[in-house]
Amino acid sequence: MRVLKFGGSSLADWQRIENVAKIVLDEFQRGKIVVVLSAMKGVTDRLIDASRKAEMGREGYREDIRWISEKHFETVRRLFQPKDQTGIITSLQLMFNEIDDLLHGVELIRECSPKTRDLIMSFGERMSCTLFASYIESRGVKAEMVDARECIKTNNRFGSAIVDFERSYKLTAGKLKGKVLPVITGFIASTEEGITTTLGRNGSDYTASIVGAAIGAECIEIWTDVDGVLSADPGYVKDAFVIPQLSYQEAMELSYFGAKVIHPYTMIPAVEKRIPIRIRNSLNPSAEGTLITESVERQDRAVTGIASIDSIALINVEGGGMIGIPGVAARIFGALAKASVNIMMISQASSEHSICLVFNESDSQKALDSLREELALELETKRIENFELKRDLVMIAIIGENMRGTPGISGKLFSSLGREGINVFAIAQGSSERNISFIISKKDEVRALNTIHTAFLKGKG
Ligand code: ASP
Ligand code: MG
Repeated sequence: MRVLKFGGSSLADWQRIENVAKIVLDEFQRGKIVVVLSAMKGVTDRLIDASRKAEMGREGYREDIRWISEKHFETVRRLFQPKDQTGIITSLQLMFNEIDDLLHGVELIRECSPKTRDLIMSFGERMSCTLFASYIESRGVKAEMVDARECIKTNNRFGSAIVDFERSYKLTAGKLKGKVLPVITGFIASTEEGITTTLGRNGSDYTASIVGAAIGAECIEIWTDVDGVLSADPGYVKDAFVIPQLSYQEAMELSYFGAKVIHPYTMIPAVEKRIPIRIRNSLNPSAEGTLITESVERQDRAVTGIASIDSIALINVEGGGMIGIPGVAARIFGALAKASVNIMMISQASSEHSICLVFNESDSQKALDSLREELALELETKRIENFELKRDLVMIAIIGENMRGTPGISGKLFSSLGREGINVFAIAQGSSERNISFIISKKDEVRALNTIHTAFLKGKG
């Protein structure tokens, strides 16, 4: 059994839905499948906007609802035979009435709790799946909409609830048993008491992973609008190519570094049950995509992919007063954590003379203020030198399972950057050795990515 998940962009309008239906019907011929769907593109955002407007007492939310309903009804008009339209229109209309009532309630009490917002958001997936299942049925295959709130159980952390895996696996497996072609709502779940929750934005991948784990699927296919995970950002590197195979670890490292294909935590249920994940393109179904599995046999290259994150800033805390004194690092990290600054990379040389901290540029002021406050005494007594912020940086990472234990990788990396005259501000390599990250100026980014791609991946596509 395979799980096929289609995201919002694959469900942007009636043409795309027709395309997905074609893929689903084709794949259904090849073997048993379970479909997981997101809401149609833009619908979740609009539902959130609507709830905000209603909360402020602004009538404008009706405009959002009109937009959403038009999107769905247009799809029905275009895809369904007139004789098949009545049933689905009634089902959708009932949901719209409910959304209307809910939002009117929000408008009256001028309050939308996270709990209510989850309920409002849940309609996106409930509508897309109701519509899609009924369309597949009209094409002669017995598809059935499955409301994930009956299968996936979570705690009540509304907005991004925590899943009770064992319970959810049991319920999901039971619910799917005997169904010909289930179409499950992504993103949504419920508490033990049946209160609606959501799994966090873009949570449908997570649903697919949970469903896959629950039924012991042979593969989880994430259908999106790119051909797979790319060796580098094609906007910067024109030689970038689709990586045919990745290990789970490589995929996690790459997605952390902005290859926005699949969120690392969403893979966890699949990884635990060692279920392969395949990234496929709904606009190009014949492409092989990227297959993500536990381990990959690959001899010809050490580096698998290159990723970069923009809008990076750095602070270098430096001074003789830090040498051999325990607790300075703890205080630095503590202060940054208290200011909710997410540290993205750290490097400390063994002289202990300096600690370099890397974070998102938008956290710059918070970081600077909190460190100045925490280290005020050391700064005053000159045990720590006055530090400053460096902006307009990027973090680049090279990632590859085979980098482990292969000598010469960093030599090649930094000499290729050196030849280009690119200055490196900081470097970190975790002891997993699957990743070397470094910081350079934004202005050098494109040159750096191309140089490295050529050095490690030329002709490997
Ligand atoms: N519809 C939800 C969202 O937009 C979940 C998803 O798309 O995966 O966040
Ligand atoms: Mg999405």
